[in-house]
Amino acid sequence: MVAEEPADLRTGRPHPARIYDYLLGGKENYPADRLAAEEIGRGWAGLRDSMRANRRFMRRVVRHLAVEEGIRQFLDVGTGLPTPPNLHEVAQGAAPESRVVYVDNDPVVLVHARALLTSGRPEGRVACLDADVRDPEAILSAPELRDTLDLDRPVALSLIAILQYVVDDGVAKRVIDRLMEPLPAGSVLALSAVTADSAPEQVARGVAAFSTCGIPLKARNKAEVEGLFDGLDLLPPGVVLVHHWRPDDDAAVESDAHVHLYGGVARKV
Ligand code: SAH
Repeated sequence: MVAEEPADLRTGRPHPARIYDYLLGGKENYPADRLAAEEIGRGWAGLRDSMRANRRFMRRVVRHLAVEEGIRQFLDVGTGLPTPPNLHEVAQGAAPESRVVYVDNDPVVLVHARALLTSGRPEGRVACLDADVRDPEAILSAPELRDTLDLDRPVALSLIAILQYVVDDGVAKRVIDRLMEPLPAGSVLALSAVTADSAPEQVARGVAAFSTCGIPLKARNKAEVEGLFDGLDLLPPGVVLVHHWRPDDDAAVESDAHVHLYGGVARKV
């Protein structure tokens, strides 16, 4: 039976989630990822700090959405390997009935996301979906999404540190617009995306190294990231380097030069 065949983990080439996992000291990576991570990390020393600041941004955003905005449903595309606390843990920590659909196209991420389902709170629901962000139709029509989320009620679409892999601005914007289309007013878009604004030379080297490893990457300036929110109402403080988005006690003090992602949250009206 197909379902019982072991998953093809495609370990022969590097994958973004596994490269981050290696750089952050995790164990879910293979020789191809470690080789790529060493190469990329050599020129882009701030990548580690940036990813850590990005994870903290995700947690603050989810907590804010759950506590202040009353959001109880999350569609998280580009989930990544588990790094506690994960999105559903933050959301369900604030509101146990929260529902989360995780979407990724990396088979190793999906193996872990499926294992995580058991850790969801019984009052809520967690599902995961194997899909490519560039195919929003597949995401929207998936039974995992339809069975888990009620599209008559607000949903937070989170695209955290994934859009740098969607290098064409037009494609990125079409994906966002299509995914937001069926969501009701009061839904939100939360995203973060790589920028070179805070460290032009370092990030340029990193982008080149990713590309050499077969992973095209786009760094966006502030106006380009703001453009991804067109048609939505940006919540204060707008698009900022992720460590500046509503910092709390948990947000380590970082220098801007070490943080290479912009983040923002916007509401559909
Ligand atoms: N959101 C997490 C992980 C970011 S890493 C965090 O911020 O910590 C980027 C994730 O996007 C990886 O898990 C990678 O597998 C996934 N990804 C990259 N390209 C993708 C695509 N085209 N479709 C779906 N997922 C993708």
